[in-house]
Amino acid sequence: MNISFDNTENAFAYKSTKQLKRSRLLFKTMSYWLLAKAGVRLTPIIMKLGLPVKGLVRKTIFNQFVGGETLEETRAVENTLGKFGVKVILDYGVEGKEGEENFDNATREFIKVIDYAASEPNIPFISIKVTGIARFDLLQRLNEAPRIRSGVHDNEVEDEEWERVTDRMYTICQEASDRNVGVLVDAEESWIQDPVDRLTMDVMEEFNRDRVVVYNTIQLYRHDRLDFLKLSHRIAKSKGFMLGVKLVRGAYMEKERARAASKGYPSPIQADKAATDRDYNEALAYCIDNIDTIAIIVASHNDESNLLAAELLDKKGLAHNHPNIHFSQLYGMSDNITFNLAKAGFSVSKYLPFGPINDVIPYLMRRAQENSSVSGQTGRELSLIDKELKRRAGK
Ligand SMILES: Cc1cc2nc3c(=O)[nH]c(=O)nc-3n(C[C@H](O)[C@H](O)[C@H](O)COP(=O)(O)OP(=O)(O)OC[C@H]3O[C@@H](n4cnc5c(N)ncnc54)[C@H](O)[C@@H]3O)c2cc1C
Repeated sequence: MNISFDNTENAFAYKSTKQLKRSRLLFKTMSYWLLAKAGVRLTPIIMKLGLPVKGLVRKTIFNQFVGGETLEETRAVENTLGKFGVKVILDYGVEGKEGEENFDNATREFIKVIDYAASEPNIPFISIKVTGIARFDLLQRLNEAPRIRSGVHDNEVEDEEWERVTDRMYTICQEASDRNVGVLVDAEESWIQDPVDRLTMDVMEEFNRDRVVVYNTIQLYRHDRLDFLKLSHRIAKSKGFMLGVKLVRGAYMEKERARAASKGYPSPIQADKAATDRDYNEALAYCIDNIDTIAIIVASHNDESNLLAAELLDKKGLAHNHPNIHFSQLYGMSDNITFNLAKAGFSVSKYLPFGPINDVIPYLMRRAQENSSVSGQTGRELSLIDKELKRRAGK
């Protein structure tokens, strides 16, 4: 396999030295654990109080991880990435807004994003969160009480509410199908995931007949998800539709473990990182073995998993741009993987959130948390940036 994720010249060709130095400063700041922790706690409060820090947030963490405040603002990023063969997954990054009116607004916004994506050459997918169109507590109740889903119960109000959620989901997927744009449904907390999975399977059955429009997300940090992937595949085959899956490790590990411990049930999370890695790589191999009936998004910043996927394609003699496999990393992270994959001819995209600064704060705080350990992602990002700055300085 003629591909190296150490090539920083390819990785950062799209960034000027000034931009790289800014990124370096941001990652360096986030690597100070106490500073990052204080920032994660205080920024949402400061923003809510309306203190004048928007400019600072915009110039730093927002610019690093977000495409803009509006759809139109994302175009500049899209064009730059496009020059290097990198596509975009657009993510309308508004989180945590509840209420029927907000859910209807979000649905309209998703439709707008789909129409915009369809009009652009470089945006094959959009992503959605079911919590953007459904009340968290409703999802949790459905998760806890599958009985309610059977229809034999005395709470018609929730039945109607769920019907509205289903309508929103079908409206979004119908538009995506008509406009030939893929919809990636994010995975969220395990205590609301069952109804999300169920709804996503329903829309896959409806829309993934001739081609894959909808993708569910499988979190391999859960010890039950490799089996769930195989079960989903069996169901898809028996019902005659294509399975679409985005494979991730999972973003809510601490929250999951803390809730399980406080409520006294067994943690859904794998015993250790090695077990997560093993299942992730096994899931990859399973999907590539079944690439005629599964379309895969390899959504990871892990060098080994990305290399494994690339190698498996080569071993099977499959084209790097096979229509059923696509790679993706978050905008602002792991450029060494994205741009080197693109250079080698793989289909690869950046997951690009956009939205008003206040609304994308939860997303930004997750990125800050993820990047606040020197041993983890920040260490990787910093050493790559340093290497490239040294190369450019001719050292
Ligand atoms: C395009 C894209 C879309 C995404 N969509 C979603 C989504 O819909 N839902 C979602 O939850 N996440 C999503 N994520 C985030 C993803 O789940 C991971 O948190 C993140 O990418 C880090 O994992 P990694 O594969 O990049 O690799 P690595 O950096 O190698 O792995 C880190 C991950 O391993 C797991 N892990 C770490 N320590 C342990 C341990 N001790 N025991 C068990 N497991 C451990 C955790 O999941 C941790 O995040 C997405 C990521 C990308 C790139």
